[in-house]
Amino acid sequence: MIQILRTIAALRAWRNGLPPDVRLGLVPTMGALHAGHMSLVDLAKARCDTVIASIFVNPLQFGPQEDLARYPRPIESDIAMLEAAGVDALFLPQPEDLYPADASTYVVEEAVSLPLCGALRPGHFRGVATVVLKLFNLTQPHLAFFGQKDAQQCAVIERMVRDLNVPTEIVRGAIVREPDGLALSSRNAYLDASHRAVAPLLHQSLVAARLAYEAGERDAARLAAIGRAVLAREPRIEVQYWEVRDRYSLAPLETVEADGCLLAVAAILGNTRLIDNLCLGTGTPGGLRFANER
Ligand code: AMP
Repeated sequence: MIQILRTIAALRAWRNGLPPDVRLGLVPTMGALHAGHMSLVDLAKARCDTVIASIFVNPLQFGPQEDLARYPRPIESDIAMLEAAGVDALFLPQPEDLYPADASTYVVEEAVSLPLCGALRPGHFRGVATVVLKLFNLTQPHLAFFGQKDAQQCAVIERMVRDLNVPTEIVRGAIVREPDGLALSSRNAYLDASHRAVAPLLHQSLVAARLAYEAGERDAARLAAIGRAVLAREPRIEVQYWEVRDRYSLAPLETVEADGCLLAVAAILGNTRLIDNLCLGTGTPGGLRFANER
């Protein structure tokens, strides 16, 4: 039976009751769970003795014009999915539990959080880093699992863990996609049929650049132009960025070096903002590998 922990006190009591030598894994989520989230659960189950997931739609990471109020919250089916997957516990706090009304302390990463989504969503990564450190402090996991889907989020959290000496190992899981290439996202539910039909173009733009890379193209601007050209064909897609970046520092690149890089795209389709990315690497034909890839 999955233990549902709705308060900080319940979480602390559960954590204190675990044997001292247990290897605890945490999978933080905002719910509306799909196969991408569940791939992280599977990874956690394989690497840990005990797995806790969290579901918390974190107000601190949403901008005033963003989708906090309409974010999907199918909590009963989420619990059923976690239970079926063999998750041991679920932390399900309310915003007022996690944030005292006069909370005044935040985690601000000042390098990798600045470009890309950080530039378009001011305060977003401050909200993410703050809630993730709070979840780490409360849960004290040995490992925590994050999806490469949110590559910049991974980079920010890895930086935070390194810089603040957090004793948690961060594991990145590969992006899980629909058969047509669209990266799974809770926000895909917002897409109407016509936008859903063109949404796979994001992935196709990344693949087009990868094919050019595999054919020998190493110039970052030309790779970005190839990707942008795929999206330019579809007027319903408003590109926010399409960039070639260092996979870890997220610094812009002029040429794609041997140790790989990140192709990253963000676009608006109707009233939905989608992101996607792909890693290039010279070592393997499909690019760099993640923890759950062979
Ligand atoms: P979210 O609920 O959107 O905050 O996502 C929770 C975790 O699941 C984050 O670490 C995401 O990067 C990860 N995730 C979301 N979508 C996918 C996906 N399609 N494939 C792999 N991981 C994902």
